[in-house]
Amino acid sequence: MKLVILGPPGAGKGTQAEYIVKRYNIPHISTGDIFRENIKNNTELGKKAKSYMDKGLLVPDDLVIALVEDRLNKDDAKEGFLLDGFPRTVAQAVSLDSILDKNDDKLTKVINISVDPEILIERAVGRRVCKTCGMTYHVKFNPPKEEGVCDKDGTKLIQRDDDTEETVKTRISVYFDQTAPLIDYYRAQNLLIDIDGAKDIDKVFDDIVIGLE
Ligand SMILES: [Zn+2]
Repeated sequence: MKLVILGPPGAGKGTQAEYIVKRYNIPHISTGDIFRENIKNNTELGKKAKSYMDKGLLVPDDLVIALVEDRLNKDDAKEGFLLDGFPRTVAQAVSLDSILDKNDDKLTKVINISVDPEILIERAVGRRVCKTCGMTYHVKFNPPKEEGVCDKDGTKLIQRDDDTEETVKTRISVYFDQTAPLIDYYRAQNLLIDIDGAKDIDKVFDDIVIGLE
């Protein structure tokens, strides 16, 4: 199983990714983790990536691609993987194809979790977090026992700055603008599995498994 998972922020991609790698016994490869790992181990690629990040700059495409290629060539990824956070653009998708092609390989499927933007906004805007223990609540879907207060430690719950309606709308529209061409690219190759991410977590996972098997 050589998989890519796509989904807008708040679609539950992280949870589904955990389920998928467990079920198929493949590594979960996220660009964030690759960056952290290389920086921690002070690799050549890690040093380069860090020099951009320290300046607050985006890590350039060719470097991101080199990091992904390096990770995909590790033994644990030979039989399969789940890529998360890469590719983000058609140019990166083309590079991924050529990385795989070097080993006479190709993607098995691309899982596209979609959720109506209105629902994503409702999910994010209603989110409340506890600064003490990190627990996450939702005013409607997962409220604390006592309004505005953490169940575990009684800390007053807060709304994160990036969960305001304005920020969430921007985040979602950036995602859709960037990813729409990528979705078309994979759909044209018959690789895309469309998953309705508005359903319950377990039902979403069932749909993914059906799509893969
Ligand atoms: Zn708490």
